Amino acid sequence: MTFNLIAPVTPLTTLNDVFLQQANIKLLVKRDDLIHHEISGNKWRKLKHNVVKANNLCSRTILTFGGAYSNHLFATASACHQAGISSIGIVRGDELNIFSSSTLRHCHAKGMLLYFVSRNEYKQKLLGKTIQSILSTNRSIFIIPEGGANEEGLQGMAEVPSEITSQLGFQPDFICVAAGTGSSAAGLLSGGANVIAFPVLKGGEFLRQDIQHMLQPWPATIQNLNLQTGYHFGGYGKYNQQLLDFIIWFEETHNIAIEQVYTGKMLYGIYDLIKKKYFQEGSTLVAMHTGGLQGRLNTLPNAPLQTDFK
Ligand SMILES: *Cc1c(COP(=O)(O)O)cnc(C)c1O
Repeated sequence: MTFNLIAPVTPLTTLNDVFLQQANIKLLVKRDDLIHHEISGNKWRKLKHNVVKANNLCSRTILTFGGAYSNHLFATASACHQAGISSIGIVRGDELNIFSSSTLRHCHAKGMLLYFVSRNEYKQKLLGKTIQSILSTNRSIFIIPEGGANEEGLQGMAEVPSEITSQLGFQPDFICVAAGTGSSAAGLLSGGANVIAFPVLKGGEFLRQDIQHMLQPWPATIQNLNLQTGYHFGGYGKYNQQLLDFIIWFEETHNIAIEQVYTGKMLYGIYDLIKKKYFQEGSTLVAMHTGGLQGRLNTLPNAPLQTDFK
């Protein structure tokens, strides 16, 4: 197996800007975007124990699920390619093909076998007829749910809080993370962190239940979840000029690339909460940079623009 399962401890970068100084808030970025150039951030952490388990079970194929822009599919295709394991992707949308997005093109190029199923069939998960027919011919397939949201996925994320605490020398007041399936947030909670999750989908309240469900083995930790549902910018993949302006300002000020689907929304949310004096002065916040930079708009202009946080 050539998939390197030991990530170096990722840097914890302290952000310095006038806005944070004046607010007296210490904000650090956990640079999980630097783990791997294709298997970014939380996807790497959620995949690693899954790949180990598949390997231990002698499964030569991993099957998983995602949409046309799924970073999880993208990362799984790369991880399997690197580990010498075959991969199968069940893609939501039977109108799609391997050329429908750069994500799908990447998956195909990494050798992932893609099956395009209707939204209805996708909802049936393992009971869908496509999967049933795949499983009937190959019983040793290792299945990972959408987003890597299983126990092994949580286990990888649960390692982060103690890593941060030993880097900082103390436990931060909050670890902040963008949320799609919420499994990264759940993993951080199971690892003992106080978590602020920023859903990137509209109506993110449903995530509390989903996360609670994932946290069944650690029922008390759901109390440490703070869900901030006001920063979805219209829904998954949506954005407006205000968000793009913020991203450009952030990148220029801190020299850290972010994207508009996940980390941009989370960081905007953090700065906005600071502006609204949501946090006590002197608080320490750690923002997870979960990567996903292959999804960064390449049309983002380079000139500094107006922002709300100067
Ligand atoms: C998938 C993804 C997330 C969301 O992770 P979940 O565990 O599904 O909530 C956040 N950031 C990036 C860059 C991602 O690719």
